[in-house]
Amino acid sequence: MSCDTLIAELSAPQADGLACVVCGTDYLRARVPHLPVGRAMTGSQVFACVGFRPNDAQRVAGGALR
Ligand SMILES: [Zn+2]
Repeated sequence: MSCDTLIAELSAPQADGLACVVCGTDYLRARVPHLPVGRAMTGSQVFACVGFRPNDAQRVAGGALR
């Protein structure tokens, strides 16, 4: 696992690290624990809820690993 993994095909909130890349939870509205799982194409850190493994996040996000 690397926090420099690029994840493509994200919505704007996801790419800004404001929403879960797995389930789309809005972190500004729902205070759920989340962890960085990679970076958007813009270089912003992106997050997924704790409980999802990073590999799952990458798969759901399109598996665009580089
Ligand atoms: Zn989530």
